[in-house]
Amino acid sequence: MILELASTTPSDVMRRVVADLEVDEGLTAWPIRLRGRLFVIVSGDESRVPDRVLNQPGVTWSSTSERGYWLVDAQHDVVGDTVTVGSSVVGGKSFWLGAGPCALERVDDAVATAAEVAAQDADAFRIGLWKPRTSPYNFQGRGAAAFDDLERVRAAAGLPIVSEVLDPRDVERAATSFDCLQIGTRNMTNQALLVEVGRTAKPVLLKRGLRSTIDEWLRAAEYVVAQGNDRVILCARGIASFDTSLRHQPDLSAILTVRRHSSLPVIFDPSHATGRLDAVARFALAAASAGADGLLVEAHVRPDEMYRPGDAAQAYPPTGLKALREKCRVVRDLTSELDAGVAAS
Ligand code: PEP
Ligand code: MN
Repeated sequence: MILELASTTPSDVMRRVVADLEVDEGLTAWPIRLRGRLFVIVSGDESRVPDRVLNQPGVTWSSTSERGYWLVDAQHDVVGDTVTVGSSVVGGKSFWLGAGPCALERVDDAVATAAEVAAQDADAFRIGLWKPRTSPYNFQGRGAAAFDDLERVRAAAGLPIVSEVLDPRDVERAATSFDCLQIGTRNMTNQALLVEVGRTAKPVLLKRGLRSTIDEWLRAAEYVVAQGNDRVILCARGIASFDTSLRHQPDLSAILTVRRHSSLPVIFDPSHATGRLDAVARFALAAASAGADGLLVEAHVRPDEMYRPGDAAQAYPPTGLKALREKCRVVRDLTSELDAGVAAS
């Protein structure tokens, strides 16, 4: 359940409301402020919330039992439709581009890739320190040991850094370095991690879980926003399918569906969605047509040098990024034109 209190509610009154809710051992409550509005998030059995709280003057309440999300629901107009990453904007009129290698491996390659990605006018540089791997025998990323090298890469890129965090214990440190905290597909349902990134002031790039429904994805976004961080960017990245001819099944319809339910910006990762270089541009354009606000693309100057097994087969040449983004913009605008024509007829 969500309570909304007048934004001018004195803090002692707000604290009393929270205390009154937590008298019941089954309820947990905490206040958050979003865009000038004051909410108390109540977690637990809604039927146990006492009437004296619900009927208090100045308090309005909304049930969250039906959908499991409320703050990210476009109908409630709480979250916006743009999120800033560094000085770039995701959502609205821009067609955003984040690109870079899978992992920070050899520093020279990362620096060269960063410089080229920046020369292509990308908005952000993506690179992993911690890598989620299916097998414990594969390269796990250089982790916290690579923070110093990341600074060299950052200097070469001059771009905000988007990087994945796997462990709630690393979030505080990561938030001092990364400009955007990525939650990977395997961690979309890691609620402890979602809560932790929700407690930071950094934008969160939330990938869709491989086997998660769109409702579950939006509930994961709600976990972050319910901690007071409304800077969530959704990222579709393909889902598991019975057919494995591509790495995953690009889930372009998810972009459309998310748009219907939430105003949060949604981007697409054509690299992890397909796993193939020859599919990246095709599905990037398809995502632009489906209404994506931008792309997250894996790019590397020397894919042959990448650690194996890894994502070399999908690494896009950074020199092609500018054209890719330009063509995506054109396709997005063409689709909007067609939509406007239909709406006007
Ligand atoms: C990544 O972007 O490097 C990554 C591991 O992506 P995903 O979580 O979508 O597999
Ligand atoms: Mn990768």
